[in-house]
Amino acid sequence: MPEGHSVHRIAGEFRRHFVGKSITASSPQGRFAAGAALISGQRMVAARAVGKQMFLEFESGLWLRIHLGIYGAWDFAGDQSMGAPRRRRLAETEYERAESEPELFPHEPVGQVRVRLLTETAVADLRGPTACEVLTLEEMAIVLARLGPDPQHDDDGTGEERFVSVVAKKPTPIGLVLMDQSVVSGIGNVYRAEILFRAGLNPHTPGKLVPNDVVRALWHDWVHLLAIGIDTGMMLTRDPQVVDGIREKYTRASERYWVYKREGLPCRVCDTHIVLEIAAARKLYWCPRCQA
Ligand SMILES: [Zn+2]
Repeated sequence: MPEGHSVHRIAGEFRRHFVGKSITASSPQGRFAAGAALISGQRMVAARAVGKQMFLEFESGLWLRIHLGIYGAWDFAGDQSMGAPRRRRLAETEYERAESEPELFPHEPVGQVRVRLLTETAVADLRGPTACEVLTLEEMAIVLARLGPDPQHDDDGTGEERFVSVVAKKPTPIGLVLMDQSVVSGIGNVYRAEILFRAGLNPHTPGKLVPNDVVRALWHDWVHLLAIGIDTGMMLTRDPQVVDGIREKYTRASERYWVYKREGLPCRVCDTHIVLEIAAARKLYWCPRCQA
């Protein structure tokens, strides 16, 4: 499942190549034909990511809401003669470059394309989303009100305060609180495990028993890691930017994480075997000694 950083990167792609342009919207697969008709022919005026959801605003004031879920992905392609984006996929966590460029622009839709957004020079195809719907401003406000703060939209610090005060009331284990999109937006399974390890925090600690300054530190770490994720397209949690030359090493999958997908392997700090357990139907990785 894409975590917050990749959705921010997708929104960035839309800001670079689609915002300000007139958009032809269609549903090659047919399932979104009525929705596409509501926005087709309009100018896109904004692209915004909040946590794992993306909102594209059109000039009529309607918004297209997308949640990729587990299987959703966007494919971007462009008319190369016009300096448009090269063909690539933005899904899970990284870019995948297609083996060959499409010969025609726009190319024929391939597979189950729920929605195609087309400008004169760029095309974006969406497949397999959990949610794809057109909302009014009022409906969009309701969706946003249910979402916890996203560090990328916290210029005034209210997101941090909201996070700290909500966690202080939660009897739920902090390992579940961090995954609750109504408490904080964008954290998924990878960032959850890594942030807790970095804090030396036992995932079973009830939210309200986590000291206030530690909760605040969790927020600041998420701010820090999310920015790196948006910048690099990778969930780099071992602070690779600290020393020159180390970033490349830590980008390798086997080196990238402290605990994520390292069950049974020795902890990088204390040599204790990393534990995998199932919490709320999701895999939770942690070190029983560093996070005692
Ligand atoms: Zn350890």
